[in-house]
This record gives sequence, structure tokens and C-alpha cells, in this order.
Amino acid sequence: MTKILTNLSKINDLLIAAAKRGNRNASNVQIIAVTKEVSVERTQEAINAGLIHLGENRPEGLNHKIAVIQADVRWHYIGSLQTRKVKQVIHHIDYLHSLDRLSLAQEIEKRAEKPVKCFVQVNVSEEESKHGLTVKEVLPFIETLTSFTKIQVVGLMTMAPNTEDKALIRSVFKQLKQCQQQIAEQGFAHAPCTELSMGMSNDFEIAVEEGATFVRVGTALVGNERGEQDEHEE
Ligand SMILES: *Cc1c(COP(=O)(O)O)cnc(C)c1O
Repeated sequence: MTKILTNLSKINDLLIAAAKRGNRNASNVQIIAVTKEVSVERTQEAINAGLIHLGENRPEGLNHKIAVIQADVRWHYIGSLQTRKVKQVIHHIDYLHSLDRLSLAQEIEKRAEKPVKCFVQVNVSEEESKHGLTVKEVLPFIETLTSFTKIQVVGLMTMAPNTEDKALIRSVFKQLKQCQQQIAEQGFAHAPCTELSMGMSNDFEIAVEEGATFVRVGTALVGNERGEQDEHEE
């Protein structure tokens, strides 16, 4: 078995156990393999292992992989996106996880040829270093998108603080879920907002317990070739 198959099987086991603890069905959770730090070869290996959702965070990395990988997979853009780079990615992606401002929505509205599935990125913990709207800003922001024909708000996305404090991480995920439910209850045609993109290598189990429908897993699944090379160089 390749390393990725071994990793995937462990992650699947943990995910199923976490779903059980959260009284959820694991089949409602999709794994996005975050391939931003790995080569085309390793990305292809992930696809061969059965992964169909792939995440990239740079236009260059995304477009290079799309050009050479011919598989029928879903591409998720998970990084912050500069307005001037919208035109480079918007025709190639299936999901954008980082809608965080009106100027970005306006550029998508102008450039996209069909509706784009977007997650509104929320900075639940209000860390200075993180992108995203505060919880309070989410509903008014989504209301301003009502007349947009190319933006479909499928859900909310967050990154938990990088901490060992599991209770803090859990409270961030709980707040995102509450916010998502509040939006979903509005019944907006442009914002069904049924999905929750939360959880990474270190915290996906908590995220699944708290309702994640997409987890974004990089290092624990496909590794980090940059980091691995650094180790060799030491
Ligand atoms: C890199 C990245 C991930 C994956 O992180 P890992 O800790 O390697 O699993 C998930 N989400 C976003 C937004 C990222 O930038």
C-alpha cells in the first residue's frame, strides 16, 4: 500500500468514529485532499487512492495541476484570493472557500460564466492574522449578495486557531455551525448555506463531531513535500 492509502484508511477510521460521537453519518462528510504543498505525482497518487475533492491555495499551483491532471475531480480553492487573480481561477474551480469581501464577490459576478459555489470565510476567533468576516458580519454580507447571479453561498468556512486548547477549537466550530443554521433558516435562494467547511489535519475529528460537511486535510493525508525536503536538508 502506498503511504497515502495508509493515511487515508487511518483518517477514514477516525472520521467514522468522530461522526458516531457526533451522532452523524460519516457519509455526509467529504474529505478535501489539500495538495497545495505536494507535487503533481503525489496529487495523482491521492486521486488513485480514491480522493475526488482536491484543495489548492494558489492560482499557479491550481492551474498547473489542472493542466496536467486529466482526472474527473472537484477542485476547491481554499486560499485567500486577490481580486485581480479571480479571472485566473474562476473558470476552473468547483468551489471557492474564501469569499470574504464585497469587492471579491463583485469581481466574481463580473467574470464568472455560471454560478460559483462559494463558502463565506468566517474569522470566528477574530484573530488579527486571519482572513474572514466576523460572525456578526456574515448575515448582512450575505444579504448584500441577494441580487448577485454568479454567487451561490453553499456554506461557511473557518480555520480554528492553531492551539492545543481543544475546548477553544470546539467552541469555534460550534459558533460556525450556529451561524450557518441562522443563515440557512432565512431561506435565501442565493444562499442555501447547508455546508460547513471546517477541520484540518490537527482538528478534523472535533470538526466532524461538531457538524463539518467538508474537512480540508493536507499534511496528515498527502504530506508536505516542502517540509519533507527541509528535513532531508538538515
Ligand atoms: C493548508 C490548509 C489546509 C490543510 O492544512 P493541514 O494542516 O496540512 O491539514 C486546510 N485549509 C486551509 C485553508 C489551508 O490553507
